[in-house]
Amino acid sequence: MEWNPGFLRSAEERPWLQRANCTGVDPELFFPQRGTSTREAKEVCRGCLVQAECLDYAIANGEKFGIWGGLSERERRRVRRARLAARRAVPNAS
Ligand code: SF4
Repeated sequence: MEWNPGFLRSAEERPWLQRANCTGVDPELFFPQRGTSTREAKEVCRGCLVQAECLDYAIANGEKFGIWGGLSERERRRVRRARLAARRAVPNAS
């Protein structure tokens, strides 16, 4: 099976996938077992041109597992909380 982030349902919904660094990379790399290294997956993400889109997608869809946009679940939670805090700090922000 060819990898696309999170076994995405439709590449048409996410045209950015066409530029993903991880296409063709072993999916297991992006879903490491608890306690194992995420370094290799993050290396793939590091040079990815669609890292921001991938991260936004994962956060918007509450992806709980795997490496998305170069970040682990824990790291994405921090980003999500920071974004929510920033939104609350700006009146009338959506
Ligand atoms: S940021 Fe990482 S997981 Fe997301 S599309 Fe790029 S290489 Fe794939």
